[in-house]
Amino acid sequence: MSGAVAGGAVATGAWPVGAELPTEPVGSLPRPSALQRAVLDAETGLLSAAELELAQEAAVLDTLERFALTGSPLVSDGEQRRQSFSSYPLGTSLHDGGVEAGPVFAVFADGHHRVIPSLARAPFRFHGHAADDVARSRALTSLPLKQAVISPSMLSLMVPAGGLGDYSRDDFLADVVAGCAEDIRRCFEAGATRVSIDFTEGRLALRDDLRAPWAGPEALGGFIELINRVLAELTDAQRAAVGVHTCPGNDNDSAHSADVDYAELIPELFQIEAGYFLVQSASEKDPDRVARLVGRQLRLLERTGARTVPRVLLGVTNPTSPKLETAEEIRDRLVQAARFIPAELLGSTDDCGFSPYLIDEKPRHGSPDFARDVAFAKIAARVRGTQLASEELAGRAA
Ligand SMILES: [Zn+2]
Repeated sequence: MSGAVAGGAVATGAWPVGAELPTEPVGSLPRPSALQRAVLDAETGLLSAAELELAQEAAVLDTLERFALTGSPLVSDGEQRRQSFSSYPLGTSLHDGGVEAGPVFAVFADGHHRVIPSLARAPFRFHGHAADDVARSRALTSLPLKQAVISPSMLSLMVPAGGLGDYSRDDFLADVVAGCAEDIRRCFEAGATRVSIDFTEGRLALRDDLRAPWAGPEALGGFIELINRVLAELTDAQRAAVGVHTCPGNDNDSAHSADVDYAELIPELFQIEAGYFLVQSASEKDPDRVARLVGRQLRLLERTGARTVPRVLLGVTNPTSPKLETAEEIRDRLVQAARFIPAELLGSTDDCGFSPYLIDEKPRHGSPDFARDVAFAKIAARVRGTQLASEELAGRAA
């Protein structure tokens, strides 16, 4: 086991060697209903900013403690302080960042939708950094920390195609790339061991959806280019510790692009020059097919020798379902995946963050508090199941 490593600024992700499979969360965890209520009360003036901060700190402390109990080699604050995975760079409220509610981002399978914030004032600047959350959590735990960050592709949707007056779209994208790269660098400086980019719009881009004018294979290529521009701003060691997460979305226990075929996405996805990928798989109809597609693409990369072959953490738990995966099921899934993906390139994760948005009812779970208990139980099973798979694969290799 990787075990506890002393805190402090760790620049690289130090992957385990041999058949020991790494495991890490994607990012978010359901916020306790008391915190969700506190945020709404603060918005209507019933709670002061100081009282809200106390509620957030309590949720972060509880998250770090419960994460440690799962035995996870990397922990995170579960994004307890954030409104959502995508809006944190805009500041604590839409108003702070000079933005307004924009077009629909995604329509989920259950019919609800989320909108994209839209930049109302140029230029674009980060008003909140993920690195600030890392710095605060760094003081609260000695375990290695993992931090999720916004994808530049998501931010790219926040300004009209024609730009904003004199502020051209190219100016805007240059500011987005610079801001994202700075956020990632600062996460490492603040003591994150690994940082992953939430690329939920990758799969969404391939959906046939007239409501998303930015969708289509060409849009996907543009998204990938933007992420590569951010990665190019990092050192080799930092890039090796940066992952890219792909998923069909998760909000109100519902997905937005589960109908898109992975065979279209995976070859494109691996054009991103990240050190590793976090690939949703457990909630696919055929998880074996995901491992096969990934394995084939990794072999292709190896043969062409174009770049360092990335590591792939496969999702082994489904955050939209309250049904618990057992450690043995997870072990079997990973051992099966190792038929297609070499063990030294394989690892595990959750299919998605457990709650990318702060206000989330988790209807299939009944309540966010129960969903939170379920999430920690799923993480503990993932950690244990991954350990069992590592032992089995090591036994076979010996
Ligand atoms: Zn996700």
